[in-house]
Amino acid sequence: MKSLGLFGTENYRAGEGDAASKLTSLICSSLASRAALGTMHGKADALSPSFANIGVDLVVPNGLDTDAFGTFTGETKRQGTMLDAARAKARAAATLTGLTIGIGSEGSYGSHPFVPFIPAGRELLVWHDTGSGIDIIDMMIDETPSFAHRDIKDIAEAEDFIRAIDFPRQALVVSVVGAKSILAKGVRDQSTLIDATRRAISLSPTAQARLQTDMRAFMNPRRMVVIAKLGELFTKRLTTLCPDCNHPGWGWVGIKGGLRCSACGCRTQLPSHDVMSCVACHAEQLVERSIGAEADPTFCPSCNP
Ligand SMILES: [Zn+2]
Ligand SMILES: [Zn+2]
Repeated sequence: MKSLGLFGTENYRAGEGDAASKLTSLICSSLASRAALGTMHGKADALSPSFANIGVDLVVPNGLDTDAFGTFTGETKRQGTMLDAARAKARAAATLTGLTIGIGSEGSYGSHPFVPFIPAGRELLVWHDTGSGIDIIDMMIDETPSFAHRDIKDIAEAEDFIRAIDFPRQALVVSVVGAKSILAKGVRDQSTLIDATRRAISLSPTAQARLQTDMRAFMNPRRMVVIAKLGELFTKRLTTLCPDCNHPGWGWVGIKGGLRCSACGCRTQLPSHDVMSCVACHAEQLVERSIGAEADPTFCPSCNP
């Protein structure tokens, strides 16, 4: 898969064999065998295989309206953070199914968190234990998301755009520029696209229609691929036990700055270690990111103030 920017676990697991060998990674018999997945956008198709591999059946409740927790097209604003929304879906799914464990997923698309001017997607998964209140969380950044829009005055102007986004596999949303009204979602055929575009142009104060990629997972094949990849990482984390208390979900939680300058030995802001932690007992381990690495003096507050 091209250019999947990974936030955390994969960076760490790339070093498997050295640091990771210190950890116990095994299928955990204490994991629930069934978990409720709070989704209505087909994410079960992307996630079920990984969870089946670790012996967890995903149960999708009937009648869960996940759009109530926020929509990409803005009709319903998301309340709180990505984690808040994902956890709310997980809890709702657990309640509807009567299961103890709920799983929630949330995506967020916009500009890249570290690199300006490039689009990126963030996908988050949470395993929420309604009994203990403990969350196991993982996140992934997609640096080549299917996330774009184009404002057009004529359907002919959109030809290269709709080819580039791989329409009709990737569905479109058609809205009115300057009026914030959405005319069609999940558009996957030429005649609906042309019809909705013409209507949007006629309703717009600037005579423009906006075409944008539909970001709902089942309308966005790229998101399904990324969610499936996140599911693989996530289930590895779930089956990695804390070396102190044996609780599942041990893994990467962040980085620690302080890589030493190669010229003067001062500490810089650059990361020196990955921080691994337990969601239950909060035990922590620091794992050196690159053994013996030093910072270029360009990044040194002493050599290059
Ligand atoms: Zn220095
Ligand atoms: Zn622990």
